[in-house]
Amino acid sequence: MKMGYKYTKKYTKFNIYSNAKELNLILNDEKLSMLKGKGNIFSLKVKGDLENYTYMYEIIFEDEKYISIDPYAIACNANSQKGVIINPKKANIRNFKRMKNILPLDSIIYELSIRDFTLDAKNKGKFLGVIEKKQLNYLKKLGITHVQILPFYDFSSNSVDELDQFKKYNWGYDPENYNIPEGSYSTNPNNPYTRIIELKKMIKKLHDNGIGVIMDVVYNHVFDAQTHSLYKTVRKDAFRYNDDGTYSNGTGCGNDIASENSYISKYIVDSVIYWAKEYHLDGFRFDLMGILDIETMRKIRQELDKIDKNIIILGEGWDLNTKLDSSLKANQNNANKLENIAFFNDDMRDSLRGSTFDKLGKGFVNGGKLEERLLNSIKGGKFLKTYISPNQLIQYIEAHDNNTVFDHFEIVNKNISERRRLKLQSIATSIVLTSQGIPFLHAGQEFFRTKQGVENSYKSSDEINKFDFKRAKKYSKYVKYISELIKYRKEEKLFKLDSFDTIEEKFDLLYKQDNVLAYSLDKKIYILVNTGNKNINIKLPSGKYKLEFSDFKRLDEIIEIKDNKYELSKDNFVILKYI
Ligand code: CA
Repeated sequence: MKMGYKYTKKYTKFNIYSNAKELNLILNDEKLSMLKGKGNIFSLKVKGDLENYTYMYEIIFEDEKYISIDPYAIACNANSQKGVIINPKKANIRNFKRMKNILPLDSIIYELSIRDFTLDAKNKGKFLGVIEKKQLNYLKKLGITHVQILPFYDFSSNSVDELDQFKKYNWGYDPENYNIPEGSYSTNPNNPYTRIIELKKMIKKLHDNGIGVIMDVVYNHVFDAQTHSLYKTVRKDAFRYNDDGTYSNGTGCGNDIASENSYISKYIVDSVIYWAKEYHLDGFRFDLMGILDIETMRKIRQELDKIDKNIIILGEGWDLNTKLDSSLKANQNNANKLENIAFFNDDMRDSLRGSTFDKLGKGFVNGGKLEERLLNSIKGGKFLKTYISPNQLIQYIEAHDNNTVFDHFEIVNKNISERRRLKLQSIATSIVLTSQGIPFLHAGQEFFRTKQGVENSYKSSDEINKFDFKRAKKYSKYVKYISELIKYRKEEKLFKLDSFDTIEEKFDLLYKQDNVLAYSLDKKIYILVNTGNKNINIKLPSGKYKLEFSDFKRLDEIIEIKDNKYELSKDNFVILKYI
């Protein structure tokens, strides 16, 4: 049975699951008692056209009663005060459909926040701002295939007041209503239709321009356990508890969702499928996926496959201390049980740019001697964790969390000139874009985004968090370079090999020392990296090559290598193609 409500002009039928004793529907101000049927489902059919009625539930347990919004609500008024009944037909827009998705391995993901990205749009801080000319053109020019957008489900009004959006800043990792878009991103949070329609317009326009949309979903915890609708409907079944009765807190947010409980598991699966179908989303990024259980994640994969096998699932598969058996956690250590689900590869991040948690963390490009470890990532992760396919690796060095690479280098590599640091950072991004697996960029990484050294900017100012188009212009040479490299990756199949066996067969390591790496793919593409401060001779097969990239430029020169000798200049990332 479908939870939530079914609307028609003649009647509306309500269903809600709860282990309560008694349950009443509050329709506008009228209280109507619900009938308890099989399997703890309370139902009621109410005659008449109920469009725009508000509805809430009074949920009565032996010892307590609650007034709650429907966990399955799909529309609400401003600041999630009350659920609202809408006519689904009126929430549709013309010609909105699924985009034909490419293989996850062919994707290049770009992570942005609606607010940061639209601060100088006409529709400032709104869904519609993302698709204004300047914003959309930037994405198109860069050439990424998917945007991954920071939370846009309804998050807490304690974080952002929907009626006074710019008073406070917040990323929104504090879920309130899982199936409703966030109201502050709409031009009229009071009208329950507006946020739905404007979000659809944004997704449609991105689709029309060949860009997929990945939704950042946060099913691992809620803003406030005791006041959340899931708690009010199933109480203790909603969260995990320690032996002493306190909330399990592996998330660090105060409460871990008990995804292993059948109702919560079904709820999460239903929610993902609802977004995939109603909003035609192209992927889901699971925040702290390591909190969730394997079976729920597998079920999500299974159900999404029925819609489109190419819908990307990725997540933070950290091993977190939550009250769940280690063998059941959807984390990196259990990657072999999570086929076609990808994980943020912190191993690449740490070995390439230096650990984000170590203030002095250095990686391959900035003085660390980690080429051996980095190679495992570049080759798609065969010897890392329990990965079974390169499509399980999200290759990245920067995301919304932690210091940006620019800020990290500023702390760790003070002795290196800024000019040189920009080159080293661009080399790191180049390695991300030429590795096996799925590359992921944080918006602005290509122009050395800075958050002025603020490590956790989740509630910092717009000034700290803004996507700075002026800075993009200032470093347009590097932005152009990254966009050329993106284009090149899209066209070159050798960067997207789909099995460890094929990678072993095609990958030849040519040179490896502290600051230098050189390898070939199928003896055709040669990648040469030098992050040291001096030129170095590399042994390459003699013959004619196309010099595709060097000195952070796309080139198209034919060169000839004689006596197996190629001089690789300092601080350079080179791609040669044997012809
Ligand atoms: Ca909200």
